[in-house]
Amino acid sequence: MPHKPIDEMTKDEFLAKSPSGYRYLAEKPTYAEEHIAWVDSNQEIVLTDDFFDHSPSDRKWILGHEKAHSSISPHEDRFWKVAESGAIGHFDEDEMKWKGIVGGRNPEETLTQLITNAREGEAVPQEVLDAYADKIHPSGELHIGDVPIKSYSSPSYLARLIIEAVDSGMDLDEAISIIKEESQSVGVPDETIKDAINMVKRELEEYEEKQKD
Ligand SMILES: [Zn+2]
Repeated sequence: MPHKPIDEMTKDEFLAKSPSGYRYLAEKPTYAEEHIAWVDSNQEIVLTDDFFDHSPSDRKWILGHEKAHSSISPHEDRFWKVAESGAIGHFDEDEMKWKGIVGGRNPEETLTQLITNAREGEAVPQEVLDAYADKIHPSGELHIGDVPIKSYSSPSYLARLIIEAVDSGMDLDEAISIIKEESQSVGVPDETIKDAINMVKRELEEYEEKQKD
């Protein structure tokens, strides 16, 4: 593993290293007051003080959940097919609220958690396994080929995908070539891809420098 996983880092270690695709926010915006972590519009995972107050094992789950958000979209037919199947929860007409089988304030949150659970090897409804088989990896690791690289992907988001693939054992050049190919196929500008690759190389160099100290 070229990196210490973020779930094991102290806040100071995180701030000293600032890994690609993640950022720390000291003050939560009002819309996120109850959130521990979330994915922003650049697809960066935002971490708060609350996050660093949790144990490493909690943090692993929180990060797993946030990463799983990248794998589902309510704009896909399969999302509604699963949400409306009754398999992951139902809308309670009396209480006027969504009740998911594993919690979650809406179907998107419930499905995100179920995909997280499936990646951790936990049992989830067959409907979820059938519809999202391509998004579920038994290792729980995020795979590049598995993540929807969108035309609006940011350099740091792409950099995070490359680094996570390397951390889970993929060769750096292979990870870069997959990112290049998949990003180009969905219309990510070449400039964005180039920035992402430079970011990764800088980050890995810095890491190696630190190892020498
Ligand atoms: Zn969520």
